[in-house]
Amino acid sequence: MSQAESTENKKNTIPLYTPKPDGNTPLWYQRPRKNIVTPTSEKRDTPQGLWDKCPQCNLIKLTKDLEANYFICPKCQHHYRIGSHDYFNILFDNKQYEPLFDNIFSKDFLGFTDLKSYQQRLDDIYTHTDLKDSMRVGYGKVLGEEIVIACMDFDFIGGSLGSVMGEKFARAVDVCISKRVPYMIICKSGGARMMESAFSLMQLAKTSSKLVQLSEAKLPYISLLTDPSFGGISASFGMLGDINIAEPDALIGFAGPRVIKETIKRELPEGFQRSEFLLEHGFLDFIVSRDKLQAKIHQMMVLFKN
Ligand SMILES: [Zn+2]
Repeated sequence: MSQAESTENKKNTIPLYTPKPDGNTPLWYQRPRKNIVTPTSEKRDTPQGLWDKCPQCNLIKLTKDLEANYFICPKCQHHYRIGSHDYFNILFDNKQYEPLFDNIFSKDFLGFTDLKSYQQRLDDIYTHTDLKDSMRVGYGKVLGEEIVIACMDFDFIGGSLGSVMGEKFARAVDVCISKRVPYMIICKSGGARMMESAFSLMQLAKTSSKLVQLSEAKLPYISLLTDPSFGGISASFGMLGDINIAEPDALIGFAGPRVIKETIKRELPEGFQRSEFLLEHGFLDFIVSRDKLQAKIHQMMVLFKN
């Protein structure tokens, strides 16, 4: 060891990470106490739901900032998937509305079991969320204009169309007719609920025929398709709006792109089943971003009224 190096070692109180000449492990590699000794009370876990990472551009944002921005990514404009609670807060004046038909519950009348029984599946959701079914209906005002809005919750078995959704949809139409107010639906669903089999499919006819009554009463029906809107929804009331609108870049279709690709054995065009593609091909009237949704809905209601 040179003279200069030994002086340097004396000055430095922190041991070097090279092994000591006596062969002992340097202090940096030693663990004086075994196991984790921090008491549980001092543990600092990151609270759930505090941050959100954009699935498109990976931008990490505080959830409360995202909420203030209508759950739209400020960098890439990606519209996060949100549920009925957030949609109602965005649309209804002062976040106030009257919830309708919250007392209708799904029933396992076929005794359906896949990985677990349908009833067990339902009970699990009831215990872990405050959702009662895949659709919630609210009656309130949008910028002063009265409206009934039905919104799907993807968290409830993929927003699937079951007999409860069909019943709520039908009763919502009745409320619209008795109160003479417009009807709006916010779609977010994977399609029919397989656990209800044919009963689920019957809802397509039931909801469509209720819309005829709404139309005969000369009341407007607005359908907003959000990411994703598939299967039985797009095959029935989702596409039957007097005005069909969608959120940007939402995936909308009947069967998924993979199924179609495998069936027709061809490459699908760029942007297939995205709202921009559907707008270009005449399936939609316009695309509206979530921050302008309330103003647009109000504008349409006023136009229909006059
Ligand atoms: Zn983003």
